Amino acid sequence: MGRYNGPGCRQCRREGVKLMLKGKRCTMAKCPIETGRASPGVHGQRRGKKLSDYGVQLREKQKLRRMYGMQEGQFRLFFDRAQRSKGVTGDKLLQLLEMRLDNIIYRLGFSFSRKSARQFVTHRHIKINGRIVNIPSMGVKPGSVIEVKDNPKSRAHASQSLEASQARVVPGWMSIDAANFKGEVLKVPTREEIAPIVNEQLIVELYSK
Ligand code: SF4
Repeated sequence: MGRYNGPGCRQCRREGVKLMLKGKRCTMAKCPIETGRASPGVHGQRRGKKLSDYGVQLREKQKLRRMYGMQEGQFRLFFDRAQRSKGVTGDKLLQLLEMRLDNIIYRLGFSFSRKSARQFVTHRHIKINGRIVNIPSMGVKPGSVIEVKDNPKSRAHASQSLEASQARVVPGWMSIDAANFKGEVLKVPTREEIAPIVNEQLIVELYSK
């Protein structure tokens, strides 16, 4: 299945939570979740009937997958990687997703959304430890310094985004030097620091069937 290119808000309305897919609009009162718009589709108003256990697990997985803007195959690969790692699979999955480069760029405020962060990386505007990178899904290691390339176009995009994302707080497991367009990942976040919008244990149960 290809990447979803439809309206981001529709995905939030389907899941009934804010997935933060549209940058500044997500922090404004006109966000459709804030205004209470119904689920999309002709039966949107009637959605809400009780889901089966499978249905609940599936919706949790879809929420997390959509929030990070991933396709099913890639999301499953991340789950498999989490399962092979030492530790609690659910926690590990959340950590692997948070440490993706596109997410780090978004969290630092250098891009409006994870989607625009992906494009920003692919178009070679980002350096890690002084080297240009172009793979949005790559995992960032603690201690890595992320920098917006010293180029007017790159820095203009980052400036606009930093200004628009002032309402977002940079997590404590990162540090930002906005004046120099640099940020550092200090450590791998804990589950509490990630504060997931889903019950990741249900995703583990879904994929363990
Ligand atoms: Fe749209 Fe953002 Fe609100 Fe989601 S959180 S419905 S993407 S404005």
